[in-house]
Amino acid sequence: MPGFEIFGDEERKQVNDVLESGVLMRYGFDGMRNNHWKAKEFETGFAHKMGVDYCQLVSNGTAALTVALAAAGIGAGDEVIMPCFTFVASFESILAIGAIPVLVDIDATLTLDPAAVAAAVTSKTRCVMPVHMCGSMANLDALQAICNKHDLLLLEDACQAIGGTYKGKALGSYGDLGCFSFDFVKTITCGEGGAVITNNKKYYTNADVYQDHGHDHIGNDRGAETHPVMGYNYRISELHAAVGLGQLGKFDTILAIQKRNYTIIRNALSKLEGITFREVPEGGEENYSFVNFFLPNEELAKKAHKAMADHGVEANFYWYTNNWHYINGWEHLRTIKTLGAVSDGIRNHLEKLNGTDFSKSDAIMGRTISSLVKIGWTEEEVKVRAEKMKTAIASVL
Ligand SMILES: *Cc1c(COP(=O)(O)O)cnc(C)c1O
Repeated sequence: MPGFEIFGDEERKQVNDVLESGVLMRYGFDGMRNNHWKAKEFETGFAHKMGVDYCQLVSNGTAALTVALAAAGIGAGDEVIMPCFTFVASFESILAIGAIPVLVDIDATLTLDPAAVAAAVTSKTRCVMPVHMCGSMANLDALQAICNKHDLLLLEDACQAIGGTYKGKALGSYGDLGCFSFDFVKTITCGEGGAVITNNKKYYTNADVYQDHGHDHIGNDRGAETHPVMGYNYRISELHAAVGLGQLGKFDTILAIQKRNYTIIRNALSKLEGITFREVPEGGEENYSFVNFFLPNEELAKKAHKAMADHGVEANFYWYTNNWHYINGWEHLRTIKTLGAVSDGIRNHLEKLNGTDFSKSDAIMGRTISSLVKIGWTEEEVKVRAEKMKTAIASVL
């Protein structure tokens, strides 16, 4: 997955454009900047690639989620439904705007279970936030139907599935808003960066204003701009945007290599009796950044994970106990460890987390291994890796 593996002259050239003018900020300084508008250029190019009207670049993926929620008018006391298998940014962004994260089960897609979402809707629910984990998507049609029924916002976190599609649409472009991360280990990177995409002009205008202290960005005198609402600073720097522009030019190549490497590994593992693969909803195509597979039970999954390490196969993730992406790893959330006070609404809800039954998700996560697909591997290297994985897993089955 990581785009940094093929960092090179294209990124250096873009960054040098910025360094030569010395304008490291994305707004203003029109006379000095030699007509370089890296952030704007990225936004136009990325919106085009994703097939949407608008893109707002921001400082990171967590900021993108925060800005997207704020742009849609979500705030204090509103409930946002999110999965229990995700990156911590999901609840961080919800808490950042004073809203309440409601964690629910996942299914064999490794993303939100529509039935669990339907059961969690209350009169305070405002938004459903599927997180397309490890390269593939939630059942978006089913989630959209729930959102339509209850008049909820659908906000896709596509940070880990950039380039995947669902029914012909880019992931992130299906819902009301979609978010991406361009941090250092993502499919394309800015070093640090993130984006919000949407076809909704009002959400876009709100995002544009909110991520830059409420500036309306009208006219060319920043000091004289008006501030329709209060905002915050989630701006990206022109330097980071320049790195991203270099990477954006390689996006299609990255996806093609991922698919080739994924296919070699998947074909090898398919020969093993007892291995099954994560479900991809009908009409969906993964971005192939991970091969995600299930062992018959938790014990075998742990053994297979260890056996691969013993065979020298790196970059395999057993999220259930070894990593920080599942509810059982978030002690700080479950015990409400915050620096300052939180609202009663948030406290009451988080206090329920310890007693919530996530056994359905446990049964899936306990059997799941995700194997990172790198783009720096040659075809020969992937074949060797695939054979080693097969041998290692076969030794425990
Ligand atoms: C990386 C990631 C984020 C956050 O992105 P940052 O740029 O690191 O803040 C959010 N959600 C998911 C699913 C991610 O993988």
